[in-house]
Amino acid sequence: MSTESLLSVRDVTVDYATGRGRLRAVDRVSFELGAGEALGLVGESGCGKSTLGRALLRLVPLAGGEVRWQGRDLARLRRDELRRLRADLQIVFQDPLASLDPRLTIGQSVAEPLEVHRPELGRTAVRERVGRMLARVGLGPELHNRYPHEFSGGQCQRVGIARAMILEPKLVVCDEPVSALDVSVQGQIVELLRELRRDHGTALVFISHNLAVVRRLCERVLVMYLGRTMEFAPSEEFYADPLHPYSRLLLDAVPVPDPRVERARPPLAAGEVASPFAPPSGCVFRTRCPVAVEACARDVPAFEAATGSRRVACLRWGDRVTARR
Ligand code: ADP
Ligand code: MG
Repeated sequence: MSTESLLSVRDVTVDYATGRGRLRAVDRVSFELGAGEALGLVGESGCGKSTLGRALLRLVPLAGGEVRWQGRDLARLRRDELRRLRADLQIVFQDPLASLDPRLTIGQSVAEPLEVHRPELGRTAVRERVGRMLARVGLGPELHNRYPHEFSGGQCQRVGIARAMILEPKLVVCDEPVSALDVSVQGQIVELLRELRRDHGTALVFISHNLAVVRRLCERVLVMYLGRTMEFAPSEEFYADPLHPYSRLLLDAVPVPDPRVERARPPLAAGEVASPFAPPSGCVFRTRCPVAVEACARDVPAFEAATGSRRVACLRWGDRVTARR
């Protein structure tokens, strides 16, 4: 990768202790993110996207591996160092209303990070910045003194984004930020994130099960299944020619605008996500994989370099490439 690495994720593993025993939600995930880059984190519900997103911000403890932020191990930062770093690392959640403090006006909500991290700013400077940021996300001054419950989901999400962006962070983790919104509003919010990213050079980790949205925003895609990484690829190549059978399954499930194509399509590959309490041996995806062979039950596929900068964890991706030539 040519860009300087902002975030370097090595073999990150996260476990949850549950009543049914240990659940490995994220299993040895590795990737790099350069300054200003946008990475889409995709996969079906329960595959570990949110957990990984939280691990990147040290909001859940790691069972293994490390997260380096500009070369420094996040787990080793002192409390005060971590606190300072929080200004550069922000998160936007799926449920905008639940993530805002109902007792604060939206103006106060957006001002809060500035008051915490930039105490040297005077009241007027804070008010000015808040006004500018709220205008930027499409919320006029007449709305500053309103409370979140008076707002639509889309408006609340604009406030959440303004709050995350007000400190001009270097990285924002967006965890399904548009999944709870109407389709028309989704488009507006995605456009807003694109613009803010362009203007501020903010890097994004954009978590979504919506591959069409990821395509509009992200230049790289990381595919997860049952806590493991299946494929890591530049978006253009990923959408044109996914290497992993699971990636193909996900892309086949993306709705097509033409209803004739939609009807002609074969049903989604069989099976449900395997239980995270008893993941399949070998390749965790093999129980649903249309091209699995015996070896897939035996060997855990390495997450290895494929073509170009792509990486894939599949014993059979090479067979497939050869077959196509
Ligand atoms: P995703 O965001 O891709 O839907 P999650 O990271 O939320 O996936 O969940 C990954 C796995 O971890 C799932 O099996 C989920 O049930 C489990 N999980 C998530 N949060 C917790 C928790 N706080 N305690 C126990 N298990 C959890
Ligand atoms: Mg999630």
